[in-house]
Amino acid sequence: MSPSITVLTGAGISTESGIPDFRGPNGVWTKDPAAQQMFTLQNYVADPELRRRSWQNRRAHAAWTAEPNAGHLALADLELAGRLRALITQNIDGLHQRAGSQEVIELHGTLYGVECLGCGDRTEMSDALARVEAGEQDPPCLLCGGILKSATISFGQNLDTAVLRRAQSAALDCVTFFAIGTSLTVQPAAGLARLAARNGARLVIVNAEPTPYDDLAERVIREPIGQVLPALLAG
Ligand code: NAD
Repeated sequence: MSPSITVLTGAGISTESGIPDFRGPNGVWTKDPAAQQMFTLQNYVADPELRRRSWQNRRAHAAWTAEPNAGHLALADLELAGRLRALITQNIDGLHQRAGSQEVIELHGTLYGVECLGCGDRTEMSDALARVEAGEQDPPCLLCGGILKSATISFGQNLDTAVLRRAQSAALDCVTFFAIGTSLTVQPAAGLARLAARNGARLVIVNAEPTPYDDLAERVIREPIGQVLPALLAG
């Protein structure tokens, strides 16, 4: 039997690992709406002070000490069982890979990489953070002197076209599409749920709060992800 399940995850799958989401009740933006400006490319490029704060935030990010939880592990098991068509994530925290998932489509990039906005040179976050710790508050690109940024997608930045295409193909080629821990408000990621459902897939949403796509779903589960996912995916 060919793998028939495509999964889209969002920040909600990592809250039980201690990484806050953006829009949940304890979300970073729920508590401090002004924090959103740090995630807009235009502001990042224009404002050196915002970049300095952003590097300090990167240094202190919960992802460096977080451990995968039962939700991440259940998805790694699904792949191991040969039932997963694709795991698509909006997360940047690398916890799916640390849980054992081999193939992860990272729609919004990764916290583990750094990209130069000038020449596109790609380096490791650990090297950039070592420079920040050594006193460079806003480390420039070592090749061209350009502005460095974590290799994550900010508002105002396009997704990698090839990565998005892989995600769209997986949404179109599944029997069941799970949307897990995502408010389904960020496009084009959220649109994958609609694409799958319109193409005849069974849409299952696992999220604590309502989403704009609940009406399209065959099943909506509002329980904590780490508690329900292992049993839900075991069947
Ligand atoms: P979001 O913050 O918009 O929504 C998260 C949803 O998860 C909320 O609706 C919340 O109610 C639900 N949720 C939280 N914990 C839950 C739990 N334990 N059980 C069930 N539901 C739970 O997140 P999003 O839709 O992923 O979009 C936000 C963007 O933020 C994405 O682009 C993502 O890249 C980025 N982000 C990533 C991380 C991360 O990598 N862990 C963390 C914060 C934000």
